Amino acid sequence: MPEPLHHYVNGHPIAGNSGRSAEVFDPATGHVSAFVPLASRPEVEHAVASAHAAFPAWAETTPLNRARVLFRFKELLERHADDVALRITYEHGKVLSDARGEVTRGLEVVEFACGIPHLLKGEHSMNVGREVDSWTEYAPLGVCAGITPFNFPAMVPLWMFPVALACGNTFVLKPSERDPSASLLMADLLKQAGLPDGVFNVVHGDKEAVDALLDDRRVQAVSFVGSTPIAEYIYARGSANGKRVQALGGAKNHMVVLPDADIDGAVAALLGAGYGSAGERCMAISVAVCVGEATADALVEKLAPKVAALKIGPGAKDPEMGPLVTAAHRAKVQGYVDLGVEEGAKLVIDGRGLAIDDHADGFYLGGCLFDFVTPDMRIYQEEIFGPVLCVVRVPDFETALALVNEHEYGNGTALFTRDGGAAREFAHRVQAGMVGINVPIPVPMAFHSFGGWKRSLFGPLHVHGPDGVRFYTRLKTITARWPEGARHAEFVMPTMK
Ligand code: NAD
Repeated sequence: MPEPLHHYVNGHPIAGNSGRSAEVFDPATGHVSAFVPLASRPEVEHAVASAHAAFPAWAETTPLNRARVLFRFKELLERHADDVALRITYEHGKVLSDARGEVTRGLEVVEFACGIPHLLKGEHSMNVGREVDSWTEYAPLGVCAGITPFNFPAMVPLWMFPVALACGNTFVLKPSERDPSASLLMADLLKQAGLPDGVFNVVHGDKEAVDALLDDRRVQAVSFVGSTPIAEYIYARGSANGKRVQALGGAKNHMVVLPDADIDGAVAALLGAGYGSAGERCMAISVAVCVGEATADALVEKLAPKVAALKIGPGAKDPEMGPLVTAAHRAKVQGYVDLGVEEGAKLVIDGRGLAIDDHADGFYLGGCLFDFVTPDMRIYQEEIFGPVLCVVRVPDFETALALVNEHEYGNGTALFTRDGGAAREFAHRVQAGMVGINVPIPVPMAFHSFGGWKRSLFGPLHVHGPDGVRFYTRLKTITARWPEGARHAEFVMPTMK
């Protein structure tokens, strides 16, 4: 009988008491591996209360001492990276080396947050008036909440809480109910690192738990990463309740291939960026825009046999591609493949019906490749979030650029070319938050900020890096005078005298 998982509140695991739970699957076998409790509103309020009570002391802990806790957490996370990666693989399905890579990218945000004493330095101006000085400080907000998606069960929470905690906030994380275990291990490691009880809490749940976080007036800020319809909802409800919100949404990332590109390089890039993690990445390339028929013919001819030959199997055996996260998600992705055929696109490689020896009940789907996709098709317009790549053929650079710019999503995009001028033009004019030049998945390092444009991000600030510090702090500007005997009233706007 699979074990029930627990919430993590005030430094301790606590059993769910809402009477509601959800199944967690091992996607490689299709078996239920655990039950995750789905928190009721009072359970969420209890976690928020614990974070709220822990806030004053944590906010007053010096930035250097907060950084020291994060340093110890970094060491522990490095030591337990394989345990975290295994939890990811057994609940998400992605291959083990990819899960390890996700932990590494998350660790980089912890490393960035360890520099918080430097990052929180404000500005100082002496003598803004005679004997008057002015300076700025970054103050923490209070209780912050993170609501995260299934596709990066460690990295996306790590985009948020290291920076939030370093800035002096306390945190309530609501991870995806589909792969909740990595968060619980990280909560344990934070405690071992010396984080005071209540500063970091994990509540599992679905819409009821999320709504409780959005409505609780003690929660000051909400970071969300997930699909666009939910991101819009979170942004609207959280903002209406007076919270600071950043809500990162879905994507349809185009990779434009110009006729002068290194076609073998472009094919290798598309294979990894389109089918890595079974296409369940917000920065996956799901559309290849080929400029010129000859470019498209050459690319499809070289790519198709490689897609057909992808090594697919249980993530723990570390093949090239694992299963999809759940049977329901696989059915949704397969539905799009059926739809693409109905819409008239050419299904060059059909991954439907893939069976893996000894894993007949796993949630596998082979790589799928569509050619002659057109912008009026739903398989072009909508996010599929699976191992399905669409090739669109366009006559020239301007049509390719317009296609990217007219799409409702603007998360990431890439251009493959040997022409520096075209690359410069593309980078300058393209409407997307992250741009790669001969780099298919241009995810920035932790010391830069990450986020999309258009319907891929709601709110002004991106995650981690400098924007992360801005998001999790508010600015205070202090103006001070220590004169002897300033005794007269000023009735006009003070100006420099
Ligand atoms: P999702 O939107 O279904 O779920 C995200 C979170 O929202 C989960 O914690 C879930 O429990 C919660 N949620 C689900 N339904 C809700 C509802 N009705 N009300 C309130 N909360 C709800 O997303 P997912 O399927 O877990 O993740 C995949 C999506 O995330 C894709 O669209 C992908 O593009 C996106 N994503 C975006 C980025 C980015 O940086 N822009 C990064 C990773 C994933």
